[in-house]
Amino acid sequence: MAETLWDAKNTIGNGGKAAFAEIKQTLLGMCVGTELCNYCENNEATDVEHIYPKSFFPERAFTWLNYLLACKTCNTHFKLDQFAVFTPALSANATTMQRKKLPSSADAAFIDPRVEDPMDFLYLDITGKSFFLLPSLTLTNPRDTAKAKHTLSILQIGVRAALADARKAAFIFFQSRLERYQQVRDATTLADLERLIEDPDLVDTSNTFEAEQQQMLTGLQQSILRYSHPTVWREMQRQYLSLPKTKKLFEAVPEALGWK
Ligand SMILES: [Zn+2]
Repeated sequence: MAETLWDAKNTIGNGGKAAFAEIKQTLLGMCVGTELCNYCENNEATDVEHIYPKSFFPERAFTWLNYLLACKTCNTHFKLDQFAVFTPALSANATTMQRKKLPSSADAAFIDPRVEDPMDFLYLDITGKSFFLLPSLTLTNPRDTAKAKHTLSILQIGVRAALADARKAAFIFFQSRLERYQQVRDATTLADLERLIEDPDLVDTSNTFEAEQQQMLTGLQQSILRYSHPTVWREMQRQYLSLPKTKKLFEAVPEALGWK
């Protein structure tokens, strides 16, 4: 019944269509980057995904906190109606849910990004250069380790090759933007700014140097914060002490350690 009601959500009842347009718009505003999938941080977010699958938890089909915008690939190729729970609830024994069987508990062994910070459970391997997401090495609670493992196993976001490549590209992009930020901040004339920017015509020479410099600095900061793969940026902030080039950049632009 939940499946049927969900498929008909835009056509039945009073205001279903308007309500779901508003829900989608609100979820779009909560997405990482610019309307990007909250699982992979790479593709356009198109699908209202149920974190607790409606096939197992029909009572959560219309629960606001159960919604997350995801991309088609994450939603229909990986997550599907897969889920894991702790059995019994509050134990550390995590089990994958079986089709056509009732859930043995509602205690999720899956990171819920609506109420939890995935970075408390996962870390990005930058130093080893794989750009894989792995269970955090600092986890001490076996429940947290189980959540990390089951989430990675269901979504495969840790090791999908296209995602690892895109994270690496994001890492290089963030470094180059920080470097450019430092150069613009240290510039002293409009001619300096014209030399630094890719398209010198974008420097408005009728503006004062200070105004033009500030505009470029704000633009560079925004380009970092609006880019895909914000987890890569956050990991650079978290791990910079063990990344020599990143460390140098953050030491030159220490305010960037607080950008979020
Ligand atoms: Zn995705």
